[in-house]
Formats: sequence, C-alpha cells, structure tokens
Amino acid sequence: MQCRSSKELNEFVMEARKFTQHGKVADYIPALGRADPDDLAIAIHYPDGQCVSAGDIQKTFTLQSISKVISLALVLMDRGFDYVFKRVGMEPTGDPFNSIIKLETVNPARPLNPMINAGALVVTHMIKGASVEEKFQRLLAFVQEMANDSTIGYSSEVAQSEFETAHLNRALAYFLKQHKSLDEDVEELMNLYTKQCAIEMNCLDLARIGMVFAMDGADPLSGKQVIPIDIARICKTFMVTCGMYNASGEFAIKIGIPAKSGVSGGIMGAVPGKFGIGIFGPSLNEQGNSMAGIRLLELLSKNFHLSMF
Ligand code: GLN
Repeated sequence: MQCRSSKELNEFVMEARKFTQHGKVADYIPALGRADPDDLAIAIHYPDGQCVSAGDIQKTFTLQSISKVISLALVLMDRGFDYVFKRVGMEPTGDPFNSIIKLETVNPARPLNPMINAGALVVTHMIKGASVEEKFQRLLAFVQEMANDSTIGYSSEVAQSEFETAHLNRALAYFLKQHKSLDEDVEELMNLYTKQCAIEMNCLDLARIGMVFAMDGADPLSGKQVIPIDIARICKTFMVTCGMYNASGEFAIKIGIPAKSGVSGGIMGAVPGKFGIGIFGPSLNEQGNSMAGIRLLELLSKNFHLSMF
C-alpha cells in the first residue's frame, strides 16, 4: 500500500519518541523481547483510500491482543449474539489482561469480557472450522480482507515462542475447561491462539483494518460490508471499555478514540466515521500499552479534536 509521509505526523512522532525510554518491551514472550524499544510508527488510513504515515513504517509486528477484536467480530458472525454472550461477558474488569482472579470470584464459567485473555480464549475456541488449521485460515483470510493484503501471514517464531511459554494462558484454559466453558483440547486451543496472536503486519495494514471498524464494518474501497454494522458497533464499544486493558478509563478520558492495544506495541484506532489508525511502538508502560503510542494518540486527539465524547 502506498502511504504519503506527513510533516505533521513526523513532528508528532519526534515528540512522542521521547517517551520510548520510559517504558520497556514485553519479554514474557521471549521472541517479543528482541524488539527495538526506540521504534515508533504511525499510519492513518482514510475511507477514500488516502493514507499518511510517519516513523518506522517498514517495521512489522505481531497483533497480540489486537487480534482479540478481530476474532470477536468473526465469532459473532459465526455464532450470533446470544451464543457468544452466554459464554463471555460485557463488563470491564479493572484487572491486568492475564489476571485469573475474577474468574474464580465472579463467574468461573463466563469470563467478564472478550478482551482479557480468559475471554479471548473462549472466543477463539468458538471460531468455526473442522481443525486448528481451518479455523486459523478463516481468521487470517478475514484479516487479509480487511487489510486488503493477501500477503499477511503470521510469525511462526513468535507463535512458537508464546506456545512454549504460555503457562498462564494454559492455566486459564484448564480452569475454563474444568467449568465446561471450553470443550476443546487445551493444546490445540493454545496452538490456534498463539498463531492468532502472531499474525504479523505493518502499521499501514493495521490502519486499514481500523478504517473498516471506523466505517461501521464497511470497506468503502471495495464496497463490501465486511462486518455487519451491529457487530462492528459491539467491537468498538469493547475497544472503548476494555481495549486498553486496565487503563481504558483514563484512555477514554484523555484520548476518547476506540482503540485496541497488544503487548507487541501495536495499537489499532478507529475514529468513528473518519479514519483508521495503526501504531507500532514496542516500549510499553506498566499496563502493557505502547508508551509512545499513547502519547502519539494524545497528540493526535488534542490537535484534531478526535475525542468522541
Ligand atoms: N498473546 C498475548 C497473551 O496472551 C496477548 C496479550 C496482549 O497482547 N496483551 O499473553
């Protein structure tokens, strides 16, 4: 995809890059620990096909938790509202994304929302398909369609690295299996989930996917409604209430853009009716959000009055 360099965005990147030194890259997935903490990139994709960008836009990264919004959209299309929300809730937790505590104290069989790991595991397990491979290929095709890029794949290195170290996610999955929320083999689910999280792209692709969510699930460039309007609305609502983990409230107040982050340092933003945003900055704050990425979004939101509230 062609993207024009923007002077204004370049200035924002220069300003926000100062914040990279205050965070650190995620290393609980060993392969993510090799990222360069100083990297920072942003792309904005408009519904008319125009795209502006700044920073290290050639860098690719894995979606990690950003994939949770996409798997949720696919599963809602596969199974419908009632089936999905019988198995996963709609409430933010205020806890870290990988926390197990509310599973035990609130409802062991129904994780509080699809953006925490417990909820995302239940969602991924609902993707339709006869095998892990078929489920993954359906999800990947959906991602490729939204990004309009059939070359998007996944990083087998990152997937393998997470698969080998996903002890906490396995614990969540076994807990859920005990309470009959999962009937799948846990290793097969881990295989699928770690591949989902390892889907790899650059921030131009991510901005285009954000644009589809921003446009209520429509791709104005292909003329296709990729996600039904009501499902796109549900996804954006979760992005506001739970998209930035246990920092979503502060993010809504300071920035006010539906957004979803991942521990690779990616952030996908969807400014309703206007454009999609893709950011990559692997130096993370305490909650696991891109340190400089948040600063970039703050600059964008303030300068262009983007808060939806
Ligand atoms: N793959 C990661 C995990 O499950 C995704 C988490 C994230 O990006 N916050 O731990």
